[in-house]
Amino acid sequence: MFRTTRVPRALCVLSGALALLAAACGKEGSPPGKGPAADKLPVYQVAQGFALPASRTWTRAKKRGYFLVGAKEDQPYLGEKDPATGTYSGFDIEIARMMSASLGFPPKSIRFRTIASANRETALQNGQIDYYVGTYTINANRKKLVGFAGPYYLAGQSLLVRRNENDIHGPHDLDGKRVCSAAGSTPYQRIKADYPKAIPVAYDTYSVCVDNLLTYQVDAVTTDDAILIGYAAKAPGELKVVGRPFSEEPYGIGVPHGDTALRFALDDALEARERNGDWKKAYEATLGLSGVPAPHPPAIDRYPAS
Ligand code: GLU
Repeated sequence: MFRTTRVPRALCVLSGALALLAAACGKEGSPPGKGPAADKLPVYQVAQGFALPASRTWTRAKKRGYFLVGAKEDQPYLGEKDPATGTYSGFDIEIARMMSASLGFPPKSIRFRTIASANRETALQNGQIDYYVGTYTINANRKKLVGFAGPYYLAGQSLLVRRNENDIHGPHDLDGKRVCSAAGSTPYQRIKADYPKAIPVAYDTYSVCVDNLLTYQVDAVTTDDAILIGYAAKAPGELKVVGRPFSEEPYGIGVPHGDTALRFALDDALEARERNGDWKKAYEATLGLSGVPAPHPPAIDRYPAS
């Protein structure tokens, strides 16, 4: 059955600049938004006879017949959901696909669920998802609540402003400026803690922040450079990323706290996919399209069970 996905009004305003979402704001049957071309995406070899009985998460997914993976749906090149087909795409989505394949799950046995930044820990704690791949920074506070495999990518906090903005070049120019970020994110916390003269504004998602930037409700959007570069690349006439990254945001795969067997299996899988070239192919087919060449993936941090 064909169903049209309704897109919130805020996203439709943004889509004036982002052709990507325009289709969803049109009438029924509009063509899907543009994601990476499917034939360019790597095919990941599925591990045969793989079993991980020590992981309660893996065992539960095996019984269910598919993985439930938390992700983002409005972050260009990283995690995007096609509003017409419901298909997810982007670098984080590819990481999830290659991880599932390494854990013995064929491509069809993975279902994505959109979970906002502020809800990730709860979603992992209450079993709504098996694992999470969505620009999720590894840090000590979060490690008390969830486990992290990886990191698989290193981002850094940066600033997105309107193309005609001349006063904001870095975080020290934010005094008295309205700065938008996602609730529950590390960039939001850092703006509040380290730049107390900025006026923080929080929404559930960055796309709503970008919408507010384009309509002059806020002066800047702050989050990881990888995310902001994607928004800027989709609307180069309207938006630009300014200054240098002012934090380190190592992206991890979130797993339920205490499921060390799953965490270590994902660490192994990441290492293997980096070694055999799948990581780089996935990057080039997704995040690489925003114009930044593939970096070296950061070293995996296999921290001991806590
Ligand atoms: N990487 C940062 C974080 O995990 C910002 C991106 C996000 O909110 O997903 O909080």
